[in-house]
Amino acid sequence: MIPYEQARKLVIEKAAVLGQEAVTLDEALGRVAARDIRSKINVPPFRNSAMDGYAIRSEDTKRDTGKGVANYISLKLVAAQPAGDYFRKKIRSGETVKVMTGAPVPAGAEAVVPLEEVEQRGGQVLVKRQIKPGENIREAGEDVKKGEIIIRQRSVLKTPELGLLAACGFNQVSVYRRPAVAVIITGNELCEPGERLQPGKIYNSNAVILKALLKSSGVELVSLEKVEDSLKSLISALKRAVKKAELIITTGGVSVGDYDLVKEALEKISARKIFWQVAQKPAKPLAFYFLRQGQKPRWFFGLPGNPGAVMIAFEEYVRPLIKKVSGHENFWPVEIEASLTGPVKKKGGRLNFLRVNLENKNGEWLARPLGKQESGMMTSFRMTRGLALIPAEAEFLPEGTKVKVHLVEW
Ligand code: AMP
Ligand code: MG
Repeated sequence: MIPYEQARKLVIEKAAVLGQEAVTLDEALGRVAARDIRSKINVPPFRNSAMDGYAIRSEDTKRDTGKGVANYISLKLVAAQPAGDYFRKKIRSGETVKVMTGAPVPAGAEAVVPLEEVEQRGGQVLVKRQIKPGENIREAGEDVKKGEIIIRQRSVLKTPELGLLAACGFNQVSVYRRPAVAVIITGNELCEPGERLQPGKIYNSNAVILKALLKSSGVELVSLEKVEDSLKSLISALKRAVKKAELIITTGGVSVGDYDLVKEALEKISARKIFWQVAQKPAKPLAFYFLRQGQKPRWFFGLPGNPGAVMIAFEEYVRPLIKKVSGHENFWPVEIEASLTGPVKKKGGRLNFLRVNLENKNGEWLARPLGKQESGMMTSFRMTRGLALIPAEAEFLPEGTKVKVHLVEW
């Protein structure tokens, strides 16, 4: 049995970045940029109008017109230009071009008077006030300069990054690959949700849990098999998984019971044990194995059978590995400090992941320990916002004790 800190370090040490691929922007949400990306154009690409209005030379409005309605400045309307069109001529003193929002501002003009502020009388446009240069003008490159880095290598592509790439004309982006994942569910006692529950059986919840967790990690599930507790079927399922997937997750059969055959099967396919058993609760029997297939890595997590252990081991070990191999710089769970709102009692020896609800009071986090913490229990997860790390050696923590809490992403 190894300590939690050592186990998580061993996982991350084995988690080498997988490589790169080009994807379309439609496929890029949540991916990690594999290179710095520079814009090849100015954004906006040309000087354009920020309003529906009239492009003018601001100096034309400088002249003192005296006071009163009769003394409007009168400009000659020489063209009208919707967005998408381009007026080739230069406007001269005393002239104006009607422009819609986003339309290029003709050469010679350096301001736009909004429609609401003028009166149009036939071919004349009457401006009522002095207009400053630059009013309602969007300059070329005012958002992005040609050559500027718009995406840094290793940044996560979310909606703003994707919108920016599109505005600069990119339809593809180079990102880090994500692992293909295979899941193997073990246990003769399992029956599928929707089926009639037979005596001695329980429903298989791990399959749905893992599918959902993997979906929230953005990875592709390439196969999901349910196998009986026999060495032969486990070995053949693992061999199939190794062909298709880089990350292989099993549930159940990894403890010390008579039918716990996952480790033996992993050794039969020559996977190397990195660790088995961690001083933690839940998920003490967690196994982590590694195999090099050709030059390619294969990571194996033998998760315990209990759904609570699956949920927690996923957040603490599997999700960080997925993130690291997919290029993320921040792969660990987000950690905050919080005060316990009630006392916590436990046996010494193993670190406990305590399911807690979180509340922020005056800028301070409060962690409320939830009931039903046993590793087979699911109901308390509905309220769980974080996992409080109760240190291995601790046996009693009074109310108010400050603890580390890992935020969960499920
Ligand atoms: P095991 O590690 O195989 O001994 O399983 C530990 C506990 O988890 C047992 O009570 C199993 O019945 C339960 N269990 C195993 N697999 C699943 C599953 N897929 N869904 C729900 N419970 C499971
Ligand atoms: Mg079992």
